[in-house]
Amino acid sequence: MLLAILWTRFAPWTFQLRTPLVIANWKLQGSRDLCGKFKSELRIPSNVEVWIAPPALYLDSLVSGQPTSAKVGVQNVHFDEAGAYTGEIAAGMVRDLGGIFSIVGHSERRTLFHETDQVVAQKFLACCEAELTPVLCVGETLDQREEGIAKEVVWNQVAEVLEKCDPAVFGRAQLAYEPIWAIGTGVVATPEDAEDMHGHLRSMIADSTVLTGEELRILYGGSVKIDNASQLIAQANVDGFLVGGASLDIVQFNSICQIASGN
Ligand code: PEP
Repeated sequence: MLLAILWTRFAPWTFQLRTPLVIANWKLQGSRDLCGKFKSELRIPSNVEVWIAPPALYLDSLVSGQPTSAKVGVQNVHFDEAGAYTGEIAAGMVRDLGGIFSIVGHSERRTLFHETDQVVAQKFLACCEAELTPVLCVGETLDQREEGIAKEVVWNQVAEVLEKCDPAVFGRAQLAYEPIWAIGTGVVATPEDAEDMHGHLRSMIADSTVLTGEELRILYGGSVKIDNASQLIAQANVDGFLVGGASLDIVQFNSICQIASGN
């Protein structure tokens, strides 16, 4: 069974379609020292993409001098391109500094900074306009899962964005399923639960848009560690990881990238 899944996942034809992607989300952590480690010690397997989301202040440290071999982006942008928004950064500025993506709608932004689905959709569009790839995060609370409404909640978060944007543009984004109860808690979704939600999202996208859903990478996030990554990546619809805590340790992070490669 495992061999069959691995074959479907990593066979040359599917491999072309969705190269595994691992994104490091440092959150409000990191330093020039950590940037240095990610420049000199990061090992990216040839069949994996790695992106780093440091605090925006460190974007330049990662791309200047001898730059890191990973692509670099940020954890959040404002929805407007400029204006009187003290403390904010714009998607165009990230692009100007060499960033290529922004995380959008991380649950910590939704809960701690009260970002609604509408604001998240506006930020998604701001990224697209500035030619940054949005990494759209969606996920349910534990209560919602226990109530049996996880799929509905998560799909509504995606639908709010899809309503406002051209599906072809949406198809160039990355999606990350991050159950809120698994983020930073050490509790990881079972591979079966992750696969069930990823498969649901992919088929909903196929049913509600002109996209087939096959082109879209759907990452899993929530307490990904060395010891749970292999079972998660073995799922046919899990195309990589969004990694928080474990991305602050270059040795652990390198191992997770290696696991994502399937080798
Ligand atoms: C995250 O920051 O998106 C995340 C999944 O964090 P952690 O890996 O620490 O749970």
